[in-house]
Amino acid sequence: MPTTLTTHENLLDAITVDDGHPIYDPANGELIGKTKMSKPQDVDAAVAKAKAAQQSWGALSPAERSEYLHKAADAVKASAEALAQILAREVGKPLNGPNARFEAGACEAWLRANADFSLEDEVLVDDESGKAVLSYVPLGVVGAIGPWNWPMMISVWQLAPSLRMGNTVILKPSEHTPLSVQALVAVLNQVLPEDVLQVVPGAGDIGQAVSEHPDIDKIMFTGSTTTGQAIMRSAAADLKRLTLELGGNDAGIVLDDINIEEMAEDIFWGAFINTGQTCAALKRLYVPAAIYDELVQALGKIAAETPMGQGVSEENVLGPLQNEAQRNIVADLVEEARKAGATIVTGGNPTADEAGYFYPATIVADIDQQNPLVQIEQFGPALPIVKYDNLDQAIEWANELEVGLGSSVWSSDEQRAREVANRLIAGTTWINKHGAVDPRVPFGGVKKSGMGLEFGVEGLKQVAQPKVTSY
Ligand code: NDP
Repeated sequence: MPTTLTTHENLLDAITVDDGHPIYDPANGELIGKTKMSKPQDVDAAVAKAKAAQQSWGALSPAERSEYLHKAADAVKASAEALAQILAREVGKPLNGPNARFEAGACEAWLRANADFSLEDEVLVDDESGKAVLSYVPLGVVGAIGPWNWPMMISVWQLAPSLRMGNTVILKPSEHTPLSVQALVAVLNQVLPEDVLQVVPGAGDIGQAVSEHPDIDKIMFTGSTTTGQAIMRSAAADLKRLTLELGGNDAGIVLDDINIEEMAEDIFWGAFINTGQTCAALKRLYVPAAIYDELVQALGKIAAETPMGQGVSEENVLGPLQNEAQRNIVADLVEEARKAGATIVTGGNPTADEAGYFYPATIVADIDQQNPLVQIEQFGPALPIVKYDNLDQAIEWANELEVGLGSSVWSSDEQRAREVANRLIAGTTWINKHGAVDPRVPFGGVKKSGMGLEFGVEGLKQVAQPKVTSY
């Protein structure tokens, strides 16, 4: 395998175009590269190539395609540090903690897991009346549209099962993080056959061109609910298959029996993973009155002591917001909470002369359920903590929003925790952790958090056409 793409400088040189659109480090405003911006005719050209390449890719056996995915995982492993360095610059996420190196590692893990899943034909009927067999055949071309918060990992979540099932893939990265996705594709394309995986960097109009294209058979989308709804409308003309992984506003309910010293750190990281910019992060915490002050103080202390700064500095584990608009959403929500009388326990005061889009890790207490910081997804480092007297009330608050991606229950008593978990409306409910995804375990949202499942054998089925043969 060629080894030239194992430094971030070489990788950025390989993908940057001189007259492209400049991309800056959100931590310090430094130019990191220039991206190609696609035009709608580039989407047409990519789709034509993907359609042609799908013929031979789809004709390979599952074992042959799995072998390619393992080679792709090897390529990611060889370039993991270079990929992490690009994520640290373009997304701003620190190298350490659950951030850039973790993301590069997850890309390798998801490629290998998808290579190894087994999806056999199912014999549904085999008796004197005859035989019926259910198998899964390729859909064709998958259009994968992604966000800026975990650009490489989410691209792999989309492309790995799609390729495994014999589809070819066209990725449309967020305009905020096009270099990360192009770098990943450059690494993967060292080992994949030509045109099986392509990328069309560009803005929302290119995403729309992908979701409207008549020769794209399925859209996998991760991003906001509003864009998901637009994609659903665009896809209607051709009845395209859809997997929509949309925004959430995950609740965590703490029970009164927790060991605060043992669990506070895990609660903190459930909320502040990737500096809060994670779809299934803990975004509102419900705590019983009996232990409220103690847990609020413990979380405030952790928030104040956790190092935040430039992504490329080894000591940091929290970074800037990826873009100015998201930083302003967080700042405005915290300001509104403060004006409504909430207590800003830690953070809340961004430094005006900071060069990047930083917002301090912020813990907000004494806040009402109806406050916008509780009701609206903040997607950043500010956690509202709501006090409850009555567990039924907390469960009602957790369930009353229009979204339902993840949720969590925190307790030292597994039985009690499971009883509460059964009453929470969400695609996943974690116990004593939050947001811990696993390539073997299906993941998806309910209500306006999306439709369809990713990961595991269920995820493979969603990028394939079920086909019954009856005889
Ligand atoms: P968006 O939904 O705005 O964008 C996601 C992707 O869709 C981007 O690649 C975007 O392109 C593309 N896009 C935009 N308009 C269209 C369209 N009409 N048709 C097809 N594709 C389109 O999400 P953001 O990245 O801006 O994040 C905003 C919010 O989304 C966050 O605040 C959060 O609530 C949620 N979010 C949820 C995530 C999750 O994992 N569930 C991840 C990230 C965000 P471009 O960026 O170039 O406009």
